[in-house]
Amino acid sequence: MCSINVFYYDLKGEQKMEDCIFCKIANGEIGTLIYENEFVAAFDDLNPQAPVHTLIVPKKHIQNIEDLHFGDGEKCHHGEGTEHDGPCDGKYIKEIFKGIKEVARIKGVAESGYRVISNCGKDAGQTVMHLHFHLIAGKELGDKII
Ligand code: AMP
Ligand code: ZN
Repeated sequence: MCSINVFYYDLKGEQKMEDCIFCKIANGEIGTLIYENEFVAAFDDLNPQAPVHTLIVPKKHIQNIEDLHFGDGEKCHHGEGTEHDGPCDGKYIKEIFKGIKEVARIKGVAESGYRVISNCGKDAGQTVMHLHFHLIAGKELGDKII
Protein backbone atom coordinates (compact mmCIF):
# COMPACT_ATOMS: atom_id res chain seq x y z
CA MET A 1 0.00 0.00 0.00
CA CYS A 2 1.26 3.49 -0.66
CA SER A 3 0.20 6.73 0.94
CA ILE A 4 0.70 10.29 -0.19
CA ASN A 5 1.22 13.12 2.27
CA VAL A 6 -0.93 16.05 1.18
CA PHE A 7 0.09 19.37 2.69
CA TYR A 8 -1.91 22.57 2.61
CA TYR A 9 -1.38 26.03 4.03
CA ASP A 10 -3.75 28.06 6.14
CA LEU A 11 -4.35 31.81 5.80
CA LYS A 12 -1.24 32.51 7.88
CA GLY A 13 0.85 30.37 5.53
CA GLU A 14 1.37 27.64 8.13
CA GLN A 15 1.80 24.10 6.92
CA LYS A 16 -0.85 21.51 7.77
CA MET A 17 -1.22 17.92 6.64
CA GLU A 18 -4.46 16.38 5.45
CA ASP A 19 -5.45 13.22 7.30
CA CYS A 20 -3.34 14.16 10.33
CA ILE A 21 -5.51 13.79 13.41
CA PHE A 22 -3.41 16.24 15.46
CA CYS A 23 -3.55 18.90 12.71
CA LYS A 24 -7.34 18.61 12.84
CA ILE A 25 -7.52 18.79 16.64
CA ALA A 26 -4.95 21.59 16.95
CA ASN A 27 -6.81 23.69 14.42
CA GLY A 28 -10.19 23.22 16.08
CA GLU A 29 -11.80 21.02 13.42
CA ILE A 30 -12.49 18.23 15.93
CA GLY A 31 -12.12 17.58 19.64
CA THR A 32 -11.78 19.92 22.58
CA LEU A 33 -8.84 22.16 23.28
CA ILE A 34 -7.92 23.00 26.83
CA TYR A 35 -5.41 25.68 25.80
CA GLU A 36 -4.33 27.37 22.59
CA ASN A 37 -2.48 30.38 21.34
CA GLU A 38 -1.42 31.43 17.84
CA PHE A 39 1.21 28.70 17.54
CA VAL A 40 0.29 25.77 19.79
CA ALA A 41 -2.66 23.86 21.18
CA ALA A 42 -3.21 21.43 24.04
CA PHE A 43 -5.78 18.69 24.48
CA ASP A 44 -6.25 15.69 26.73
CA ASP A 45 -4.86 12.33 25.62
CA LEU A 46 -7.47 9.82 24.44
CA ASN A 47 -5.84 7.07 26.49
CA PRO A 48 -4.62 8.76 29.68
CA GLN A 49 -1.73 7.18 31.56
CA ALA A 50 -2.19 9.34 34.66
CA PRO A 51 -4.93 11.55 36.19
CA VAL A 52 -3.51 14.41 34.10
CA HIS A 53 -2.32 13.46 30.62
CA THR A 54 -2.36 16.33 28.16
CA LEU A 55 -0.67 16.71 24.78
CA ILE A 56 0.90 19.99 23.71
CA VAL A 57 1.38 20.30 19.94
CA PRO A 58 2.37 22.94 17.39
CA LYS A 59 -0.38 24.09 15.04
CA LYS A 60 2.09 23.60 12.19
CA HIS A 61 2.54 20.04 10.98
CA ILE A 62 6.01 19.09 12.24
CA GLN A 63 6.59 15.35 12.46
CA ASN A 64 8.82 15.18 15.51
CA ILE A 65 11.96 16.69 17.03
CA GLU A 66 14.03 15.50 14.05
CA ASP A 67 11.74 17.47 11.74
CA LEU A 68 12.32 20.77 13.54
CA HIS A 69 14.08 23.41 11.48
CA PHE A 70 16.22 25.97 13.23
CA GLY A 71 17.86 28.87 11.51
CA ASP A 72 18.46 32.54 12.03
CA GLY A 73 17.47 34.08 8.74
CA GLU A 74 15.18 33.83 5.77
CA LYS A 75 16.86 30.59 4.72
CA CYS A 76 17.25 27.57 6.94
CA HIS A 77 20.35 25.39 6.65
CA HIS A 78 20.14 21.89 8.00
CA GLY A 79 23.22 20.52 6.34
CA GLU A 80 24.67 20.14 2.88
CA GLY A 81 22.07 20.75 0.16
CA THR A 82 19.18 21.24 2.52
CA GLU A 83 18.75 25.00 2.42
CA HIS A 84 15.19 26.11 2.03
CA ASP A 85 13.15 29.25 2.29
CA GLY A 86 10.65 29.75 4.98
CA PRO A 87 10.12 30.27 8.64
CA CYS A 88 12.12 28.41 11.24
CA ASP A 89 10.63 26.49 14.09
CA GLY A 90 12.25 28.11 17.11
CA LYS A 91 9.07 30.04 17.87
CA TYR A 92 7.15 26.77 18.16
CA ILE A 93 9.54 25.37 20.73
CA LYS A 94 9.32 28.52 22.78
CA GLU A 95 5.52 28.48 22.58
CA ILE A 96 5.31 24.75 23.33
CA PHE A 97 7.21 25.25 26.57
CA LYS A 98 5.09 28.28 27.44
CA GLY A 99 2.08 26.05 26.70
CA ILE A 100 3.40 23.29 28.94
CA LYS A 101 3.71 25.73 31.84
CA GLU A 102 0.25 27.10 31.13
CA VAL A 103 -1.32 23.61 30.98
CA ALA A 104 0.38 22.70 34.28
CA ARG A 105 -1.18 25.80 35.84
CA ILE A 106 -4.63 25.10 34.31
CA LYS A 107 -4.52 21.50 35.55
CA GLY A 108 -3.33 22.56 39.00
CA VAL A 109 -0.10 20.54 38.93
CA ALA A 110 2.48 23.29 38.52
CA GLU A 111 3.39 23.03 42.22
CA SER A 112 3.04 19.27 42.69
CA GLY A 113 5.08 18.48 39.58
CA TYR A 114 4.78 16.78 36.25
CA ARG A 115 6.71 14.81 33.64
CA VAL A 116 7.14 15.81 29.99
CA ILE A 117 7.89 13.22 27.30
CA SER A 118 8.26 13.47 23.54
CA ASN A 119 8.68 10.22 21.62
CA CYS A 120 10.72 10.74 18.46
CA GLY A 121 10.72 8.05 15.81
CA LYS A 122 10.50 4.29 15.65
CA ASP A 123 12.65 3.16 18.57
CA ALA A 124 10.90 5.61 20.87
CA GLY A 125 7.55 4.15 19.80
CA GLN A 126 6.12 7.34 18.29
CA THR A 127 2.67 6.46 16.98
CA VAL A 128 1.28 9.84 15.87
CA MET A 129 3.62 11.58 13.44
CA HIS A 130 2.83 15.14 14.52
CA LEU A 131 5.20 16.56 17.14
CA HIS A 132 3.68 16.34 20.60
CA PHE A 133 4.77 16.64 24.20
CA HIS A 134 3.00 14.48 26.77
CA LEU A 135 2.44 16.24 30.10
CA ILE A 136 1.62 13.63 32.72
CA ALA A 137 0.87 14.37 36.34
CA GLY A 138 -1.66 14.14 39.11
CA LYS A 139 -0.06 11.32 41.11
CA GLU A 140 3.39 10.19 42.13
CA LEU A 141 4.64 8.92 38.79
CA GLY A 142 6.72 6.08 40.17
CA ASP A 143 9.18 4.22 38.00
CA LYS A 144 11.42 6.38 35.92
CA ILE A 145 13.46 5.24 32.92
CA ILE A 146 15.98 7.94 33.75
P1 AMP B 1 3.06 8.70 20.91
O1 AMP B 1 3.03 7.22 21.14
O2 AMP B 1 4.10 9.41 21.73
O3 AMP B 1 3.12 9.04 19.45
O4 AMP B 1 1.70 9.25 21.51
C1 AMP B 1 0.54 9.38 20.78
C2 AMP B 1 -0.54 9.66 21.79
O5 AMP B 1 -1.65 10.19 21.10
C3 AMP B 1 -1.03 8.42 22.55
O6 AMP B 1 -0.87 8.65 23.94
C4 AMP B 1 -2.51 8.32 22.15
O7 AMP B 1 -3.31 7.90 23.22
C5 AMP B 1 -2.81 9.74 21.75
N1 AMP B 1 -3.90 9.91 20.79
C6 AMP B 1 -4.07 9.27 19.61
N2 AMP B 1 -5.18 9.72 18.99
C7 AMP B 1 -5.70 10.70 19.78
C8 AMP B 1 -6.81 11.56 19.69
N3 AMP B 1 -7.66 11.51 18.64
N4 AMP B 1 -7.03 12.43 20.69
C9 AMP B 1 -6.21 12.49 21.75
N5 AMP B 1 -5.12 11.72 21.89
C10 AMP B 1 -4.87 10.83 20.92
ZN1 ZN C 1 -0.25 17.22 11.68
